[in-house]
Amino acid sequence: MGIPITVILGKSKVIIAIAIFLTDTKGADKLGAMNKDERKFERWRQEMVERQLISRGITDTQVLAAMGRIPRHLFVSEALTDSAYGDFPLPIGEAQTISQPYIIAEMTQALELTGEERVLEIGTGSGYQAAVLAEIVFRVYTIERNNTLFMRTRKLFDQLKYHNIVARYSDGTQGWNAESPFDAIIVTAGGQKIPQPLVDQLAVGGRLVMPVGGLFSQELIRVEKHADGITTQSLGGCRFVKLIGQHGWKE
Ligand code: SAH
Repeated sequence: MGIPITVILGKSKVIIAIAIFLTDTKGADKLGAMNKDERKFERWRQEMVERQLISRGITDTQVLAAMGRIPRHLFVSEALTDSAYGDFPLPIGEAQTISQPYIIAEMTQALELTGEERVLEIGTGSGYQAAVLAEIVFRVYTIERNNTLFMRTRKLFDQLKYHNIVARYSDGTQGWNAESPFDAIIVTAGGQKIPQPLVDQLAVGGRLVMPVGGLFSQELIRVEKHADGITTQSLGGCRFVKLIGQHGWKE
């Protein structure tokens, strides 16, 4: 009676051992593939930083480090991951776009951030710009008017553990009075003029960057707020989607 039992146990041990071996091999393959992809994205990211940012004059080391770290490919749809580090904007759904890496670097650099700031962003979109800010500053407040994008991106912030990003669904042209004043404000959609509530909610000494102009082309404007008023400066031409709201374009 004892012998058959031993045989059966023996066989099942062998089967179990083979099963573990098979799963292990599959797991290792998957891990290998993942690492290979990760290495590819890492290489593309470093190329992006060198060829698109440093070579064009971006010098802020915090901006370069943040953009060299953030997995930009996770902020676009799966079909576009291989284009995520390209030198161009990309569609993110809802007729909106994620900006070209250089524009994001230029706008972030213009805010002259040191790390302690509370920053307001208008136009959360894919969440990439907010992530760049979140890597550098103390806290990011970001507002999106499109509910589909708001819901999707808020989930992504959770998944990527960006706990210092506070996201809100509303019209960003009215700012976020309860959390003001902000040390810096960045508007990632274009309007004909800078919404007055945003200037009001900027701290004295604070910087604001926004594309200002017509529907099809704008100038990137940098505003600095002083005790006795504001000074503005143009950083060059750009093309952004519409800033829609009470102090922006009508829908
Ligand atoms: N910063 C984004 C860019 C998104 S494109 C990124 O990194 O991906 C601009 C976004 O601004 C769009 O998602 C659009 O829906 C949003 N937007 C336009 N007008 C707005 C408003 N008044 N308030 C908040 N978001 C607005």
